[in-house]
Amino acid sequence: MSVKIALVGRPNVGKSTLFNRLVGKRLALVDDTPGVTRDRREGEARLGDLSFTVVDTPGLEEAPEAALEGRMRKQTDIALAEAAACLFLIDARAGVTPLDKTFASILRASGKPVILLANKAEGSAGDAGLYDAYGLGVGEPLAISAEHGEGMAELYNLLEPFLAEWQSEEDEEEAEWDDPLKPLRVAIVGRPNAGKSTLVNHLIGENRLLTGPEAGITRDSISVEWKWQGKDRDWPVKLFDTAGMRKKAKVQSKLEKLSVADSLRAIKFAEVVVLLMEATSPFEKQDLQIADLALREGRGLVLAVNKWDLIEDRDAAMRSMREMADRLLPQAVGIPIVAFSALTGMGTNRLMPAVTRIYIDWNARVKTPELNDWLQEATARHAPPAVSGQRIKLRYIAQTKTRPPTFVAQCTRAEDLPAAYKRYLINGIRDAFDIRAVPIRLILRKPG
Ligand code: GDP
Ligand code: GDP
Repeated sequence: MSVKIALVGRPNVGKSTLFNRLVGKRLALVDDTPGVTRDRREGEARLGDLSFTVVDTPGLEEAPEAALEGRMRKQTDIALAEAAACLFLIDARAGVTPLDKTFASILRASGKPVILLANKAEGSAGDAGLYDAYGLGVGEPLAISAEHGEGMAELYNLLEPFLAEWQSEEDEEEAEWDDPLKPLRVAIVGRPNAGKSTLVNHLIGENRLLTGPEAGITRDSISVEWKWQGKDRDWPVKLFDTAGMRKKAKVQSKLEKLSVADSLRAIKFAEVVVLLMEATSPFEKQDLQIADLALREGRGLVLAVNKWDLIEDRDAAMRSMREMADRLLPQAVGIPIVAFSALTGMGTNRLMPAVTRIYIDWNARVKTPELNDWLQEATARHAPPAVSGQRIKLRYIAQTKTRPPTFVAQCTRAEDLPAAYKRYLINGIRDAFDIRAVPIRLILRKPG
């Protein structure tokens, strides 16, 4: 089943014209129940090498004026419910009407990604309406002419990144995230002697709700399942136990030490990685390597500092670690640091709340209109630099993926955008939408 994109807009803006342009002769009515086909038609759209299902909502203009708004709202809701995104059309020649505003607010509330199309913009007849369209609060308008086929390449550029991601990942992601029975996969990694075995024993020792038949022999197995009782819900957790791996390897007298490959295996398995360090020697080279690996793999990361019982001036130690974390891991500013003693149990109850919080952020989804409002504000506050006399322009941003949150923005001269400015944007997304300490990916694409 291909991804559905809804065409939305008041009567006469050109939805059917765009529908016909995208679908051509391939129109296939999927539902011939009377009343359904009249209000909604679907067809397989082609745009370059993209294919998707477009859903149109025609026939509304037949309704008496008074009933129109209610019917439109209903039809739009139905079309939107099934759609992954929508193309919102306005008539650039007519400018923004009150009905357009009503649609914009329905769309904003729906949280679906919206691409705003200012139609009938062939020539420069639509310039005024194009300008007005910014005020709808659903992002930057793209000028097109459905009738003359103008703007289709730009539309392709906007749709392409989304469709690619949606088609492969949407279903899987949502299913996983929504399933309360699916265990959260956590890996505990760190240098030898950091206290991994002690921590794992402590965690599963105090959780009597072990699942699985091998509950008693978990020390030999590579993953352990247990249930953590959070404040709002129970979290089934599957722990990837690298310490257990090493001990198993020892028994088989093969490997003495855990290699980087083992850490990588654990990281790949995990959704959230807990990097266990020793309070007396945090942030050693190997620790940073593991942290960097986890972040590059796009995992949620929690910095855990063990053997806290050995530290006397804990305030000073924590301040120093905070500073080190933000300096040495700038790609995840604000990453949580949890300090405890796995041996005595002091502070260990802070670990799982940090892990689940990271997991929630890792799954964060930000609504497109909010993102675009943010982008406008962020670029107004600090304009992107000019390169050889021409200002770099950023327009239209959307989140294409979660786990980790991934955003795609259109950027002229993307290759010239300074790394510092990209960091400014990423940190801006973090602050604006409260996505803490998980890797955030920002992909810049050239328009056109
Ligand atoms: P719908 O009610 O939103 O489905 O709108 P239609 O597709 O039926 O179009 C309404 C009117 O606008 C028709 O007369 C179309 O020919 C015209 N129209 C559609 N697209 C364009 C365009 O790009 N430029 C101009 N000038 N007219 C257009
Ligand atoms: P692993 O190699 O990472 O699995 O580390 P272990 O769990 O085997 O622990 C290594 C050593 O550190 C053992 O002697 C533990 O008793 C000790 N250890 C673990 N956690 C703590 C802690 O919180 N405080 C102190 N003082 N020692 C600890």
